[in-house]
Amino acid sequence: MSLLSIDNINVGYGEIQVLFDLSLHVNEGEVVSIIGANGAGKSTLLKTISGMLKPSSGAVSFDGEPIHPLPADEIVDRALIHVPEGRRLFSLMTVQENLEMGAYSKHAAPHAKESLAEVHKLFPRLDERRRQLAGTLSGGEQQMVAIGRGIMARPKILMLDEPSLGLAPVLKKDIFAAIKQIAEDFGTTIVLVEQDVMHSLAISDRAYVMEQGQVVMEGEADKLLHDPHIKKAYLGM
Ligand code: ATP
Repeated sequence: MSLLSIDNINVGYGEIQVLFDLSLHVNEGEVVSIIGANGAGKSTLLKTISGMLKPSSGAVSFDGEPIHPLPADEIVDRALIHVPEGRRLFSLMTVQENLEMGAYSKHAAPHAKESLAEVHKLFPRLDERRRQLAGTLSGGEQQMVAIGRGIMARPKILMLDEPSLGLAPVLKKDIFAAIKQIAEDFGTTIVLVEQDVMHSLAISDRAYVMEQGQVVMEGEADKLLHDPHIKKAYLGM
């Protein structure tokens, strides 16, 4: 049985339908990339999994149980954690305070100290800058805080929306390396939405390709890296 299972969901904003009869699954311990052009519906998919949007039909199941009827905070309590696009930090709070905000759920709170040590091990720079206001950090550092805040929630599934967006190439490399390390060190299952298809496939086990609200392709990441359609449409080769 898959840890996360999406079965034939239809999702939209009011009258506008964005996801069409979409199905996919994620097994425990996997890193799975969702790739696709702007507007394909990747963020909409993550918002549906985390309960911010509700499907008009179909089901989202976690650990064999339907979660789409639950409010978003109960989905967080089950350790299904969404790091949204654009970082969304509290800019007038320190790095440390932002990280601590991630550990508020009843399942994460008792482990906050231990989680913070793990985040500092993964991103030593956040330890150095723990008292700095988040709003004054560089883009790369802010992304580290956003991911770190996700780790503070002790996720069973960590969903990352465009973590490398807007970062310089060298920082991108650091972020992808950190994501790989999270999967390896903690065994966290990761769902990664990315525009940087090359880097995201390189650290993934499997991937789904979305076009216009539907899954049009799926497979092992290293096979997709060599697929002619992927090379032409997403890798610029
Ligand atoms: P991107 O990579 O550009 O973020 P995406 O694949 O994540 O793209 P979504 O953000 O899920 O795509 O958007 C899918 C479609 O849904 C787009 O046509 C978008 O305009 C539309 N959409 C997104 N949010 C809303 C909203 N709040 N109200 C109405 N339409 C929306």
